Amino acid sequence: MSGTAQIGVTGLAVMGRNLARNFARNGYTVAVHNRTTAKTDALVEEFGDEGAFVAARTPEEFVAALERPRRLVIMVKAGEPTDAVIQEFAPLLDEGDVIIDGGNAHFEDTRRREKELRGRGIHFVGAGISGGEEGALNGPSIMPGGSAESYASLGPMLEKIAAKAKDGTPCTTHIGPDGAGHFVKMVHNGIEYADMQLIGEAYQLLRDVAGYSPAQIADIFRTWNTGRLDSYLIEITAEVLSHVDAATGKPFVDVVLDRAEQKGTGRWTVQIALDLGVPVSGIAEAVFARSVSGHADLRDASRHLAGPTARKLREDEAPAFADQVEQALYASKIVAYTQGFHEITAGSEQYDWDIDLGKVAAIWRGGCIIRAAFLDRITSAYEAQPDMPSLLSDKSFAEEIAAAQDDWRTVIATAVAQGVPTPAFAATLAYYDSLRAERLPAALTQGQRDYFGAHTYHRTDREGTFHTLWGDDK
Ligand code: NAP
Repeated sequence: MSGTAQIGVTGLAVMGRNLARNFARNGYTVAVHNRTTAKTDALVEEFGDEGAFVAARTPEEFVAALERPRRLVIMVKAGEPTDAVIQEFAPLLDEGDVIIDGGNAHFEDTRRREKELRGRGIHFVGAGISGGEEGALNGPSIMPGGSAESYASLGPMLEKIAAKAKDGTPCTTHIGPDGAGHFVKMVHNGIEYADMQLIGEAYQLLRDVAGYSPAQIADIFRTWNTGRLDSYLIEITAEVLSHVDAATGKPFVDVVLDRAEQKGTGRWTVQIALDLGVPVSGIAEAVFARSVSGHADLRDASRHLAGPTARKLREDEAPAFADQVEQALYASKIVAYTQGFHEITAGSEQYDWDIDLGKVAAIWRGGCIIRAAFLDRITSAYEAQPDMPSLLSDKSFAEEIAAAQDDWRTVIATAVAQGVPTPAFAATLAYYDSLRAERLPAALTQGQRDYFGAHTYHRTDREGTFHTLWGDDK
């Protein structure tokens, strides 16, 4: 017998609960289920009047509540809990049913699960979902992988609940087969790490070198948010910086322990980039910056190390420096996105996903954490030249960096001279300079490798592989 719910959500913590409400608010009948049934009851009791919910107490009830082909979203803790839930539900499903994993799964897990379930005739859709709990409720950016057939059944519903970009386009699209959706979500999070670190470095410079207070820096960010840096992360940064701690009356940012935590998607982005041989140095530095911050003992033991103290600028010099920091932040941000898109290109080639980078940029324009005005420009750039080797190949981005680069260099040089750590600013500039360099010291590296390990080398003037008999000319 077939039920009446067009979609089901199991796992009703913050994300699942809000996603279920989002489906219901959009007119769908939603079956809801959670291991601990109290959460199911609480959802229906609190929000039952928002739409049509069918509360299920057991997996059997849940599956029976769904119309066929069944579509059920799993929103539980990533890793083993997701496998446990799949094992629990899969035997109850029929051929053609669709399981959607909306958690932050590793794309290799998604590839494994998709393959296993495909063998049983069940579609498995690994869908990256970004936007946090607010996005889940009001419209996230959704990055579904899986078969084209599953998207045909699921896509219209996802398009309805997803955020909409300013031009009305839904922030979801079929990313590609098996793990493609979770791969793209992983890189999204890697870019998010870089974006946040770059903003953090800009803040530190405005504070230590320009001498601005958190409230003044909040105002600077608000101004930046009306220009080309217009983005969710800049917007919330201004909010965080202007927030005052009620207990002490101090700026909130001064009473929070400076140890950044992480859940793993940024680290995965870097690990996979290493496997694929893609230089994502800006993202990597952002991940490392979080780990440095967490080494409390090491930092305590190192505070006496020699170095300059940042010199505060005169009040009348500070605004010009703030303008330079804006240029640096924008240039570094372009490079961080360039690196992220490169990783998606490499992943797409490695796994045969045929990912459309223009569509990825387009669905990041709304709902997700890295939503930003300049993603419109990235979308247009990839639409115009889908096979661009790099975002920096786009003329308008290259021109903007050309215009920003003097200030970019000055800001980083100032940071270095004054001992303010700016690892992501510096790494993105070094990447840019590496790409534009006529010659890299890699030629010397090849010489060294050939010397100690007979690893051979290629020449600039002749085809073939060469080895030098080192020491023979002594
Ligand atoms: P969560 O804290 O990651 O997970 C809690 C949920 O998992 C509860 O419903 C819990 O059920 C269920 N669960 C845990 N182990 C289980 C098991 N062995 N069997 C059955 N159910 C189990 O919840 P969340 O923060 O809402 O996130 C859900 C997923 O979305 C995660 O994969 C997360 O990474 C991803 N995500 C989160 C965010 C965010 O901003 N929070 C954003 C994007 C994606 P009980 O109530 O019975 O314990």
